[in-house]
Amino acid sequence: MENKKKKIGVLTSGGDAPGMNAAIRAVVRSALARGMEVVGVRHGYNGLIDGDIFDMNLRSVSEILHRGGTILYTARCKEFRTREGVLKAKDTCQKLGIDGLVVIGGDGSFRGARDLSLEGIPCVGLPGTIDNDISCSDYCIGFDTALNTAVEAVDRLRDTSQSHDRCNVVEIMGNGAGHLSLDCGIACGASAIWVNEVDFDVDVSIVQRILDTGKTGKHHFIVIVGEGITDVHSLARYIEERTGVESRATVLGHIQRGGSPTAKDRIMATQLGYHAVELLEQGIGNRVVVIRENHVVDFDILEALQMKKGIDRKLYEIARSINI
Ligand code: ATP
Repeated sequence: MENKKKKIGVLTSGGDAPGMNAAIRAVVRSALARGMEVVGVRHGYNGLIDGDIFDMNLRSVSEILHRGGTILYTARCKEFRTREGVLKAKDTCQKLGIDGLVVIGGDGSFRGARDLSLEGIPCVGLPGTIDNDISCSDYCIGFDTALNTAVEAVDRLRDTSQSHDRCNVVEIMGNGAGHLSLDCGIACGASAIWVNEVDFDVDVSIVQRILDTGKTGKHHFIVIVGEGITDVHSLARYIEERTGVESRATVLGHIQRGGSPTAKDRIMATQLGYHAVELLEQGIGNRVVVIRENHVVDFDILEALQMKKGIDRKLYEIARSINI
């Protein structure tokens, strides 16, 4: 009997992150190198439900390594959260002979990957989010690029802040997690970093700090605030009222999600994509491939979803003592 070639699919889901294309490229090329067939699924799980799927070859992923976004498009798919949706996706996979899937996205996407794995379609998740908030992984694809983008933007604000003796309040993305804010605050020498993970008193940690450091001859200040914590425009007005230092607010927003991925993101994404294909080749699914202590490892999805990760408290304390 003729041996059927293994066929795998790849999709991106949830928010986009720079480096997703590098991961797609690694998946496609690793699979082809192992004699497997590969299909691309567009718009996340929607593509599995609607059959928006196409064959991929070596050239399908040419010239994408350095490009931000995702050539497969990404989406949030309400229907896939229902059993009917998952069964439709399973049906599509069976009709097209898809033996396994690589899902690049965040926690929510991993939950979907688990549901489909439990229905008999092996899925492997790869962590892709600029928020770096996937607990099982020390690192998520897109974080380094977003961090460098944020740092560059804050450096620009610092120039004008310095020229005018101002305080600049900058909102950084993170979806409730403080990783991007903390690292950006360290790299930019922010006078204060407000993240959800620490108790924070505006009067002590911002107002008093500005007044105290002002006495040492410092006249411009950067305050980093994690997304969703407070209205940064109101905060800037409050700081100005209390300190007398002219204050402005900036929301960096989706700027942080775009742009060419850094070398680090390309390398990480390439390693993770390669490992995912190794698992699927063996028919192993219901796994996430992540970075732990500088190694590529994989975990059961449920086990991975139950892990916890906080911010680096030591780093936070260092920032508080140095950025004065
Ligand atoms: P980001 O970190 O960018 O938000 P994410 O993968 O966590 O990425 P979600 O919107 O939570 O983003 O999930 C992406 C998609 O995964 C959802 O639109 C849905 O299709 C699927 N999904 C999420 N949660 C579940 C679930 N509990 N069961 C099945 N599918 C899910």
